[in-house]
Amino acid sequence: MRYYSTRNKNNAVNFATAALTGLAPDGGLFVPEGIPPYPQAVLSSLGTMDYRDIAMETIKPYVQGEIPDTVLEDIVQSAYPFTAPLVSVGGRFILELFHGPTAAFKDFGARFMARAFAYLRRGEEKPLHILVATSGDTGGAVADGFFEVPGISVTVLYPQGRITPLQEKQIAGLGGNIAALAVEGSFDDCQRLVKAALADESLKKKMTLSSANSINISRLIPQAVYYTAAAGRAFVGRTDPDGEATPRVVNQKGGGPPPGAHDIAPPPPQRGAIPPGTPITLCVPSGNFGNLTAGLYAMKMGAPIRQFIAATNINKTVPDYLASGEYQARTSQATISNAMDVGAPSNFERMAAHFSWEEMRRIILGVSVSDEETRETIARVYNEAGYFLDPHSAVGWKGVDKLLAENKIDGLRAGDPVGVLSTAHPAKFSETVEPLAGPTPVPASLANALKRTVHSQTIPAAVSALLEALL
Ligand SMILES: *Cc1c(COP(=O)(O)O)cnc(C)c1O
Repeated sequence: MRYYSTRNKNNAVNFATAALTGLAPDGGLFVPEGIPPYPQAVLSSLGTMDYRDIAMETIKPYVQGEIPDTVLEDIVQSAYPFTAPLVSVGGRFILELFHGPTAAFKDFGARFMARAFAYLRRGEEKPLHILVATSGDTGGAVADGFFEVPGISVTVLYPQGRITPLQEKQIAGLGGNIAALAVEGSFDDCQRLVKAALADESLKKKMTLSSANSINISRLIPQAVYYTAAAGRAFVGRTDPDGEATPRVVNQKGGGPPPGAHDIAPPPPQRGAIPPGTPITLCVPSGNFGNLTAGLYAMKMGAPIRQFIAATNINKTVPDYLASGEYQARTSQATISNAMDVGAPSNFERMAAHFSWEEMRRIILGVSVSDEETRETIARVYNEAGYFLDPHSAVGWKGVDKLLAENKIDGLRAGDPVGVLSTAHPAKFSETVEPLAGPTPVPASLANALKRTVHSQTIPAAVSALLEALL
């Protein structure tokens, strides 16, 4: 597969170059020159296929000729000891993307990227050094994904005092080949420093550098897998049993909502209530729009998806574009779903490379949700269904509510399958969730991360300080 830059169709490269360089030299994003359809035999057995088999079928055509099938098989097996359960909550599907080690969906992309990099760099003598700036979630997923990967070291830059203690432990508690720099400044400062270091000639002479931010195509492609897996299951009316870290209150004897939270007992989970044979409508809580772009790829490959809903917080650049046809980037505003506080979503350029405004409007419905609505939704879904939503997933849930109430989902019949992507485990955002729904169960991976000690170096927000720390 060849990948071309969104800014120049003639700048085409192979998968290895697209993945290892990240951004095209002209500043554009790499996109695949074709979206390969799934074979019919795969499409007709999606509902019963193993997650890793769907991963093989999805990723294979994008890396053909560069990563042999046997190697890809190893990568997929070791990257995904966890999967993406599709559970039923209050008559809707929830696609749980938080069963990975850092409890957010970014694990799916970061773990594949790390293993693909290690293979593509095999036999190289010089180690690869990856720089990544984070506002919180990306840093943890990238650090965890690359931890102990031979031949690669990572430096994560994060804004000091502006990420949660848990996120800091996920980034700066691993040690080994993962270094952490606490920058005295904002996320924008971190990003500026990384860009400057990547362009610094003296540094480039001393080490091989790369970046691992969300525009990397090798993070995007493996995210198409869970869309296809979920759509395939919903199509045959199958849900999964709750996963190990599923944050649901089971109202058995002695169970029920945690003491002091709420007294209303949740109804038993509804199973098998959704009729099979209909493509699903999926709502994606969105910030930089990498996740939704991966969904568009899955749909183009043939996954049985009817339509997407792009739910944002008040940073609604894309919903406004869908409504007006005019793209207007803004500065971001802080919200309680802070991983989606993006005013200029970088993957929009990729979406626009594949679809016109008219096409996008047919496939994607936009909706924006306030912090107040998000809080109300976390409390309500807990009260009604005993299910804990994190703030990002609550934006998705409420987005569906709003569009249904306004009758905006054209042609959707009562009982047609609708699903919401749950992008993070609620325990990751317990400061927001606990006051609304009570203490959430904590997955083992997060409990382990909480035990780590932070080892990071504090630097001023100056390029010279970053260069000094790296050399
Ligand atoms: C990164 C992130 C998002 C936003 O995903 P995009 O691909 O940037 O649209 C949503 N929720 C959580 C929890 C995240 O970490």
